[in-house]
Amino acid sequence: MLERFERYPLTFGPSPLEKLDRLSARLGGSVEIWAKREDCNSGLAFGGNKIRKLEYIVPDALARNADTLVTIGGVQSNHTRQVAAVAARLGMKCRLVQESWVPFEDAVYDRVGNILLSRIMGAEVELVDEGFDIGIRESWERAIEDVKARGGRPYPIPAGASVHRYGGLGFVGFAEEVRAQEAELGFRFDYIVACTVTGSTQAGMLVGFARDGRADRVVGIDASFTLEQTRAQVMGIARNTAELVELGREITDDDLVLLGDYAHPAYGVPSTATNDAMRLAARTEGMMTDPVYEGKSMQGMIDLVRKGYFPPGSRILYAHLGGVPAINAYSYIYRNG
Ligand SMILES: *Cc1c(COP(=O)(O)O)cnc(C)c1O
Repeated sequence: MLERFERYPLTFGPSPLEKLDRLSARLGGSVEIWAKREDCNSGLAFGGNKIRKLEYIVPDALARNADTLVTIGGVQSNHTRQVAAVAARLGMKCRLVQESWVPFEDAVYDRVGNILLSRIMGAEVELVDEGFDIGIRESWERAIEDVKARGGRPYPIPAGASVHRYGGLGFVGFAEEVRAQEAELGFRFDYIVACTVTGSTQAGMLVGFARDGRADRVVGIDASFTLEQTRAQVMGIARNTAELVELGREITDDDLVLLGDYAHPAYGVPSTATNDAMRLAARTEGMMTDPVYEGKSMQGMIDLVRKGYFPPGSRILYAHLGGVPAINAYSYIYRNG
C-alpha cells in the first residue's frame, strides 16, 4: 500500500514477534498472547513507535532542505527523544518544546529518562509550563518562528508525529509487516491491542488492517484521558491516510475501537492497576512496560482477557510501542519493585 511513498530507513527491519506463553497461562490460558516489539525496532536511542512514523516523514524534511527538526511533547516525551535521535543520525539540529503535561512530581522528573537522552544527543530543550493537549500548540509555533529568526530552516513535526500529512503511513507499514509475518507463521491474529494518545499509530493500523477486513480488530487503549479529542484525532488521521494510500473505502466510526477505561487518573500518571499490570508483564515475561503508555495498554489487555472480551482460542497481538526510558522519572513508585 506504500509503494508510492519514499521511506528513509531508520529501523533494523521488521520488528520481532514473540509469544508470551507465561503471561497467557497466568491469565487462564484461553487466549494466546503475542507481542510485536516496536520497543526493539531501532538502534536510535532505544527506538519506539515514533521512529517507524519518522521513516515516512524524513524524506519530506530532506526534500525541503531543512536543517532543524522542531517538535513538542511532555517533559518525559518518548517522541521528542526519538526526534532528537533522528536529527543526530541525519546531522540536523533539533529543537524540543517540553510542556508540563503530567501532574506528577518526582525529584528528578526533568533530569532523567527521555529528557536526559535528548540533551545528551544535543537537542536544544525548552521547558514550558503548559498543560496536556494533543492538538497544535502555540509554544511549538513560537519555537518554529524562533528557529527561523535565528537563520535556521525548521522542519515542524507535531506532537507524536501524528497530525502530519504522512504521520499515518508508518503504521500502515506495520500492518503490511504483520501480514508478511503471519504468512510465515501460518495463522492470522484475531486482535491487535495498542496504546493510543496522539492517534497516528492506531489510525495507520486502522487503514493498514482495513485492507484485509480487520480495522475493527485493532483495539485501541486510550492513555490520553481526553477520549473524545483523541477519538476525533484518530478518525481525522485515518481518513486522511486512507485517501493518501488510496485504500478504496472510507474509514467509518464503526471501524474505530478505542477504550477509555484505563487512562485514569490522568495522562502520564499510572493507577494501581497500571502498576500491577506492569509488574505482571515484567515478572512473567521479563518484558518491561512504562507507566505512561504501555503499562496502560497492558492493563487494558489483561482486564479484557480476564473479562472474556476475546473469545477462547483468540490470538492477540500486543503492539509494544516502546517508552520504557520514562520509567526512570517514576522512581519513587517502584522503589520496592
Ligand atoms: C507515542 C506513544 C504511544 C501512542 O502513540 P500515538 O501515535 O501517539 O497514539 C504509545 N506508546 C508509546 C511508548 C509512545 O511513545
